[in-house]
Amino acid sequence: MVRLPAGFTFSQSSLQDYADCPRRFELRYLRQLQWPAVESEPALENERRQQEGQLFHRLIQQHLIGIPEEHLTRLASTPDLRRWWENYRAHPLSLDGYAKYTELTLSAPLADFRLLAKYDLIAIRPGDQALIYDWKTYARRPRNEWMAARLQTRVYRALLVRAGTRLNGGAPILPQQVEMIYWYADYPAEPARFAYTAAQYERDWAGLEKLAAEIASSVDFPPTDDEKRCAFCAYRSYCERGDRAGESDEVESELSEPELNLEQIQEIAF
Ligand code: SF4
Repeated sequence: MVRLPAGFTFSQSSLQDYADCPRRFELRYLRQLQWPAVESEPALENERRQQEGQLFHRLIQQHLIGIPEEHLTRLASTPDLRRWWENYRAHPLSLDGYAKYTELTLSAPLADFRLLAKYDLIAIRPGDQALIYDWKTYARRPRNEWMAARLQTRVYRALLVRAGTRLNGGAPILPQQVEMIYWYADYPAEPARFAYTAAQYERDWAGLEKLAAEIASSVDFPPTDDEKRCAFCAYRSYCERGDRAGESDEVESELSEPELNLEQIQEIAF
């Protein structure tokens, strides 16, 4: 029996893993097993898209810190990257007057644990608005209802309220000042925008504490009943849930993006 270590740091990825399949959480975060199987097919195509997604994030970050567009355009060297970069340039962000924080990590205590998130961009007009941008390179645009229910949407907004005071001139960020925007590189004119309210924040934070407490007290991490998820899971062989990877564009529930690497990020702790 493996229990959650004291002071464990949760992220939206680990919480989403638990929500999707408690056994996946156990294998990945408690037993720390390597990923023995390809998550989705075609494997090379999926891996290439993930690498391009990471490069695209880097291009935008460099643009936002002031590196000239013409220099960055030369770095967009594949068809996907060129298309995403042109889409980004054709839909400029209107952030005059905002302080911009790129690739920023925030963390805060979550009951006896910590919660951490890395943001692509937080744009703040102190005392007015706090915008969270997240770039997505999904091959298909997910439904807004699906994105609204993702733990990322709940974690990122709640954690900014909880831990963002220093970004707001020392004043607390109010939930109603927060908006989260998913910008889809292949659907540049159709971002998903999620405003926030005090009631949602209270509900989200209480829900996150409850989820952390549930994980901490668990002795049993059962496999998901939704076996469709297993086709996209690297741990299929541990669970005897088939030997064939799913097709990466088969279902919305397993749209993939680069993993958060907790060791590579610099954190602003609350
Ligand atoms: S293969 Fe299925 S049951 Fe096993 S960890 Fe993955 S999602 Fe869970």
